[in-house]
Amino acid sequence: VRDLEIDQSSKLDCSIIDRNGKVKICRLPDYIPQLSEVDTSLFAVSICTVDGQRMHLGDSDIYYTMQSTSKPYTYGITHAALDDVLHEFVGHEPSGQAFNKIILDNQGRPFNPMINMGAIMTCSLVHHEQPLSHRFNYFLEHYKKLTGSRSTLSCNMPVYKSELEVGFMNKAAVNYMMTMGCWKGMIQSEEQLLKNLDLYYQLCSIEVTTEIQSIMSACLANRGINPITGESVLPIRSVKRALSLMFTCGMYDYSGRFAFKYGVPAKSGVSGVTDVVIPGVLSMTIYSPWLSIHSSSSLLGLQFIDGFIKKFPYHVFDSR
Ligand code: GLU
Repeated sequence: VRDLEIDQSSKLDCSIIDRNGKVKICRLPDYIPQLSEVDTSLFAVSICTVDGQRMHLGDSDIYYTMQSTSKPYTYGITHAALDDVLHEFVGHEPSGQAFNKIILDNQGRPFNPMINMGAIMTCSLVHHEQPLSHRFNYFLEHYKKLTGSRSTLSCNMPVYKSELEVGFMNKAAVNYMMTMGCWKGMIQSEEQLLKNLDLYYQLCSIEVTTEIQSIMSACLANRGINPITGESVLPIRSVKRALSLMFTCGMYDYSGRFAFKYGVPAKSGVSGVTDVVIPGVLSMTIYSPWLSIHSSSSLLGLQFIDGFIKKFPYHVFDSR
């Protein structure tokens, strides 16, 4: 995958000839300016099995921001606290639309927790009456348990600020949700409303390496138990729901095709990271910044998954 031919036409655009000889157009997500400042040659894969065996390839110690790959964890943590009550506020249907589309389902909820509107709603529901510092720390402490490390996990300030400064779609989305009464009276002021967006951006800006993130995704592969520490981090009930949502909604408007083709739960993020979970077996986290303009997912990440699943056919509906 690392040797695929990349023809860079500008700082933001390139074309890549994929493993089948097809030309794929890619772009960096310049709508978050800091994400387009990245070294595009980076490529990393980390694998963690449910019994704690690990393998790393490439730039696996390089930090990047989780972006939308934070959503399954944020969902799992929120679900563990609130159970299915949270689905009074956010649905579980794929939207079939781009991740930042401003759209509600026929019950007036964001479609699912794997797209922006749904993730903003999800993280706004836990301890919403508490100060923002407490709310961020609540998630961070759970994230740390997922990584199995007691050391610091932090938010990348420039990326976080970059989103706050120019995230006009997300601002429009929260204003729309407020207008439509999506918080059912839980939020009274613009200040409270924007705090939820702030929290969402902080969670998207958490910095990890593939080495770290593959342990988080292995917790999902391992019924909520961290395979390195043995600690039960998320209830199996929440993990099952998170994986179902990843399977049906995790790859943006490419989710149906991805599930059809590869048959495993996955989640992509615009920083170029993709998490793949093979329940009961292993998880992998792949990082490479160029995004396919068709799927908004990492092109080299998709190419790696394609090669991996062809070699090890783990489709969840394979009868073995
Ligand atoms: N923070 C990004 C946003 O809100 C996340 C998008 C993504 O990774 O899909 O647009």
